[in-house]
Amino acid sequence: MKRTRLAVMAAAVALTLGACGNAGEEDTDPVENDVAADAASQFEDGTRMKEIAEAGTVKIGVKFDQPGLGFKAAGQDQPTGFDVEMAKIAAAKLGIAAEDIEWVETISDNREPFLQQGTVDFVFASYSITDERRTIVGQAGPYFLTGQQLLVTKDSDIADIDDVQGEEVCSVTGSTSLSNVEEAGAIGRGFETYSQCRDQVLDGAIDSMTTDGSILLGYAAENPDELEVVGEPFSEERIGMGFSQDSPELCQFLTDSVTEAQDDGRWADAFQATLGASGAETPDPPAMDPCA
Ligand code: GLU
Repeated sequence: MKRTRLAVMAAAVALTLGACGNAGEEDTDPVENDVAADAASQFEDGTRMKEIAEAGTVKIGVKFDQPGLGFKAAGQDQPTGFDVEMAKIAAAKLGIAAEDIEWVETISDNREPFLQQGTVDFVFASYSITDERRTIVGQAGPYFLTGQQLLVTKDSDIADIDDVQGEEVCSVTGSTSLSNVEEAGAIGRGFETYSQCRDQVLDGAIDSMTTDGSILLGYAAENPDELEVVGEPFSEERIGMGFSQDSPELCQFLTDSVTEAQDDGRWADAFQATLGASGAETPDPPAMDPCA
């Protein structure tokens, strides 16, 4: 069942990004959110939600180099992607329109420090929920499920994780992908971003890269003649929303924001406009973890 869903999702991502061509050309506001007019009055005094709603702006960490999830080309005003749409849904519930969000580029390795230091209020950045991360930051969700695979050039002999035992595989520092691939028997080489890692594969400097299938399919779709995603997923990644442990009330707020979007169709609209824009089947939204 899990495999089927991941496979369907993989097909959806491949079709979408292939059809769009350039993620930079995506509609930057595909989901209609009602931006609450008097949001601050709906939250209790002393909560972080009320503070943010009163401020009228929110700092959200997203990836800028992952087409379909979080993507912002130089010169583009607003980022696009499924993570970005989930972030806009939460902001709207705080009374904040997309143009009033301060988007902060986040890489895998700085997500926890950015949350701990208050550089961002939220992280929506292909951010897997893990027990270890939950000891230092808050994580609500998951709002999306994916699994780790490999990206190779089309002329490669590598077909799955068995073919990279003892071989160098590139990934990103601070990601679950790097530790998972090392546990699976490969030699992980960590870069700062996934686009740097993809360039290593395109240049032939490293034979394969690894991370969430949803990220890899975006790169394959941008270079369909040169790159492909191979192998069955060898992990399950539960993608969630990061917040500071100083404000545990944000867990229920973020969970409610996604649950409402799942119920009223905006979650599906967001999927279809980003990872599933080709009209490929939209997966069932995942069940969210209860907040402590
Ligand atoms: N989802 C994995 C993680 O949070 C890999 C993707 C990423 O690094 O953003 O570590």
